[in-house]
Amino acid sequence: MKACRTIAEIREALEPRRSGSIGLVPTMGALHEGHLSLLHAARAENETVVMSLFVNPAQFGDESDLAGYPRDHVRDLALAEEAGVDLVFTPTTDEMYPPGFQTWVDVTELGAILEGRFRPGHFRGVATVVLKLFTIARPDRAYFGQKDAQQAEVVRRMIRDLALEIELRVLPTVRDSDGLALSSRNALLSPEERERALAFPRSLATRSAEAARAALAASNGLVVDYIEVADFDPPVLAGAIRFGSTRLIDNVPLEGDPA
Ligand code: AMP
Repeated sequence: MKACRTIAEIREALEPRRSGSIGLVPTMGALHEGHLSLLHAARAENETVVMSLFVNPAQFGDESDLAGYPRDHVRDLALAEEAGVDLVFTPTTDEMYPPGFQTWVDVTELGAILEGRFRPGHFRGVATVVLKLFTIARPDRAYFGQKDAQQAEVVRRMIRDLALEIELRVLPTVRDSDGLALSSRNALLSPEERERALAFPRSLATRSAEAARAALAASNGLVVDYIEVADFDPPVLAGAIRFGSTRLIDNVPLEGDPA
């Protein structure tokens, strides 16, 4: 596995590999089984697997959220290597946002609802960094998790709107055995908060926005930002909850295989 820190380096490393297919897995690190399932799919479907590891400041609303985001570079590189990643792209913020940067991708309507209402500018940051990663790696396929259903929908819309020649692969949400969706942010929960967070996936499992809202209203210490049905592909019951400053999102597809 080769680690590349600059755009020039990764482009050079990819040059001799362009005769075969390239799969890109964008991540912000603190890897868990959810990320690994994307890496395994990419490994099975492409000659070359590229993983990006970049905690994208443009998609964070506040500084403390960005500063507190879990980071474990050494462990991430070991897990990526074990999963068969060929190239890891770990750019600096300056590499992705050079001084004077002012070009943004805004998926205007999809980016403004649900998560976008609570995190203004979040999807603008996501779409911009994902398009930049696409132009750097020029993958044939890009891998995203159903866990972030709205993110997958925003990327799907961007691919269509900008006629990008990339196949979007969205893989099912990986959960702990107790039902909590794996998330790098789970590490920020106290054991007691983690226990109480189980009410969240259980409420979504009702597949009814009203039933889920009612179930969560009874759990104290937990703030519900929203629980709504979203007309995505597939449609989902999606929600976001908060324990203090830790925010969790999750969803269940309402059509197709519930897994
Ligand atoms: P992140 O590092 O949080 O930006 O996530 C990188 C990718 O992994 C995104 O496409 C996420 O949707 C996906 N992902 C995160 N958690 C899970 C999970 N529990 N199951 C499946 N995919 C996930």
